[in-house]
Amino acid sequence: MRNQTQHFINGEWVDSTGSETIEVINPATEDVIGKISAGTKEDVDKAVSAARKAFPEFSKSTKEDRIKWLNAIADGYKKRSKELIDVMTEELGAPLSISENVHFKMGLAHFKQAARALDSFSFSEEKDGHTLVKESIGVSGLITPWNFPTNQTSTKIAGAIAAGSPVVLKPAEKTPYAAMMLAEIIHEAGVPKGAFNLVNGTGDEVGDAISSHPDIDFVSFTGSGGVGEKIMQNAAKTIKKVALELGGKSPLVILEDANMKKAAKTAASNMFFNSGQVCTAATRILVPKTKKDEFEEAMKEAVSSYSMGNPREEGHTAGPLVSSGQWDTVQSYIQKGIDEGATVLVGGTGKPDGLDKGYFAKPTVFTDVTNDMIIAQEEIFGPVISLIYYDDLDHAIEIANDTIYGLAGYVFGQDPEKLRYVASNIRAGQITVNNAKTDFNAPFGGYKQSGIGREWGEFGIEEYLEVKAVLGMPS
Ligand code: NAD
Repeated sequence: MRNQTQHFINGEWVDSTGSETIEVINPATEDVIGKISAGTKEDVDKAVSAARKAFPEFSKSTKEDRIKWLNAIADGYKKRSKELIDVMTEELGAPLSISENVHFKMGLAHFKQAARALDSFSFSEEKDGHTLVKESIGVSGLITPWNFPTNQTSTKIAGAIAAGSPVVLKPAEKTPYAAMMLAEIIHEAGVPKGAFNLVNGTGDEVGDAISSHPDIDFVSFTGSGGVGEKIMQNAAKTIKKVALELGGKSPLVILEDANMKKAAKTAASNMFFNSGQVCTAATRILVPKTKKDEFEEAMKEAVSSYSMGNPREEGHTAGPLVSSGQWDTVQSYIQKGIDEGATVLVGGTGKPDGLDKGYFAKPTVFTDVTNDMIIAQEEIFGPVISLIYYDDLDHAIEIANDTIYGLAGYVFGQDPEKLRYVASNIRAGQITVNNAKTDFNAPFGGYKQSGIGREWGEFGIEEYLEVKAVLGMPS
């Protein structure tokens, strides 16, 4: 049992001021794996006051010190690889290979990338006869979701350390243990006490206390749009800057000249990746009308080559959904799709054969979907995708942009001019052409209701900085 009911404040684990706890569940077995503390407003006050105290020195730390800390965190993180991989499989249900090759590696990449970006980052420049200085924004509140337990926390923490901003982190209560390991790694890396604080708890109590705290200068939030809206409203009371990384309903536009088998594999890999619990997942697959039959055959074949099952057994590409609540949500969307008249090409409601225990959902592909259907408009956050057919490229772009979201977009095909045309006309923060590799220095964030702000690499550092103009500075 992982009963870890303390918070990390001012360089040490401390008891909560409250006595309530939250159970953490292994979604593959439905067993309780431990408890964490349901922190209180007073716990947040303590953490903020430690961060405030750390601010004057931490914000003036040198670039060399920050690079040293980030690299030491990366080293400590690597040393604890086995434990981190294991805990993410336990709390999230990700197959061990995904915990290692995706979750663990993404977390590591952010610390390394921030150190690299910082090396060439300029905190001061002369412009038009004035001096422009970039200074730490102050104390930052970080609130993260469960779907990428180390990626979401690491990208924020790395940016904040690089900018000299002390933080108070509230990780997701469903996946708190990887974040708690990070607290120890950060401390052992020599980051000054008070610069990193972690308070566990619910969004309504701890998250709310962070977003409304008068001594927090900036809130960086990743999560759902509804909570993002509440955070913005809370932050408005003290005119706090907010960065919001929210949901998506991203399109994958398949060009007519694409190899349909390869295109279907790309679509299927998006559906299975993290069991579809990915904000950037391509959940609307836009296929030329002329290729409908060919693509559907290819899609059925592609899906059959993936497997879902016990995350601790070798060979599975996907595990369960994170919770029973998430399972219910996904089921209700699959039912809505059926009720709306879409055709189930693969999957459907209920649990996959042989997977009665655990929150496993059937990977589901809908066809004959129109873009006005609920399943094409709302974020499902599970292994469910919709095939939508288009007449010509302008029609595809019209469909691609016809949602409230703008987080990511994908285009797959051969003609360079058409690839460019689609990439430049989708209104989203990141477009991937033909499965291009992830770049941890490329900015990440959304247009429209997918959010405000950018994370990762040098753009991620900028989030934690203010710009000061000094006029008339004697040289
Ligand atoms: P969520 O919004 O329910 O919770 C996210 C975090 O906010 C959790 O730590 C939660 O405890 C906290 N929270 C809840 N209520 C709060 C409140 N009133 N005040 C302050 N904090 C509160 O989201 P989730 O279910 O954990 O994650 C799934 C969502 O996250 C999806 O919508 C997904 O698209 C989004 N997401 C976005 C990105 C991105 O980078 N754009 C990445 C991952 C996930």
